[in-house]
Amino acid sequence: MKSREGIPYTKPSISQLELEYVADAMANGWGENCYEYINQFERHFKTYIGSEFAIATSSATGALWLGYAALGISRGDEVIMADINWIATAAPLIHMGAKIVLVDIDPVSWCISPKAIELAVTEKTKAIVVTHLYGNLADMASILEIGQRYQIPVIEDAAEALGSMYQGRRAGSMGEFAAFSFHGTKTLTTGEGGMLVTNNRELFVKASTLANHGRSAQETKQFWPSVVGFKFKMSNIQAALGCAQLERIQELVDRKRQIFSSYREMLSDSAGISMNPESPGDYNSYWMPTLVFDSESKLSRNDVMAKLLAKGVQARTFFWPLSQLSFVDSEWDNPIAKLIAARGLNLPSFHDMTLSDQQMIIETATGKL
Ligand SMILES: *Cc1c(COP(=O)(O)O)cnc(C)c1O
Repeated sequence: MKSREGIPYTKPSISQLELEYVADAMANGWGENCYEYINQFERHFKTYIGSEFAIATSSATGALWLGYAALGISRGDEVIMADINWIATAAPLIHMGAKIVLVDIDPVSWCISPKAIELAVTEKTKAIVVTHLYGNLADMASILEIGQRYQIPVIEDAAEALGSMYQGRRAGSMGEFAAFSFHGTKTLTTGEGGMLVTNNRELFVKASTLANHGRSAQETKQFWPSVVGFKFKMSNIQAALGCAQLERIQELVDRKRQIFSSYREMLSDSAGISMNPESPGDYNSYWMPTLVFDSESKLSRNDVMAKLLAKGVQARTFFWPLSQLSFVDSEWDNPIAKLIAARGLNLPSFHDMTLSDQQMIIETATGKL
């Protein structure tokens, strides 16, 4: 395949190790070995996160769907989440007939606001979903306390936060369950793929059964589903890629942090730009370096994007508020979500980019080129 000109917003780092593991899975990972890499990937992943159970899936969307279903969410239930989110967090719930309750974000973390959650809780609230946006960490202490007080499970969408830590605890280790994504744009990739992690054995057993077309691990009869399930499994070949990437996870995260800190340094004399925060005691894996232009900034998001795109640099807009989508009820008005979505921009970040790529990007963005 030919590589194209320009700078993508992200792409994976594939070393000799990944090539070796995938080649081994393709040559030998069949018959009685057909789950070897899947089992290894789940085992190593849950150790890394510090969770008791893990289920490899075909995507984070699939992992969320399994977890939501295992929690028993159904028609008419309400699930609270931030208005700023990728659609994947909401889509399974919409399919299930649940109602997504969209609340405002915190102006600093850009993640769901605990105060807004508290105002949205009703008797129908079945879960709270926290998305650690762009690697940033939501205020988990306050959110877990609200969950406990109202006896509502807190779910983590940690798709963008592999490697991030909240006060020493890994993103994805704190909720009732968490979902991770290994899409080609994410910090660790399997091409497409995801993982559900949990410490709740009952939820794990239910989700495992659902993931395998409703066939329980205890069922002795062959081809005998006990419930209608899903087919959200990861292949052994994808898992081989995941195993290799996971061995390199600290190297991958270190590089994300280095890229972020170079951008921050290059922008240190540009006023009115906020970037991904890192509170004392937290550790941000900076999946997507993000700029939010304040009103005092001389730069506008749309101008900067246009300038970057003209140079072949793939900048990304901040996620849109879900409440603006045509198929979502628009009964919510979340001013901070609206403001930041209109002023935010993600910059490219990938393992093999160079310092001069970064310099060109920042000089273009700030109008020095
Ligand atoms: C990427 C992403 C997902 C979906 O991941 P898939 O593996 O593509 O299903 C879900 N939530 C967030 C926040 C994401 O960034």
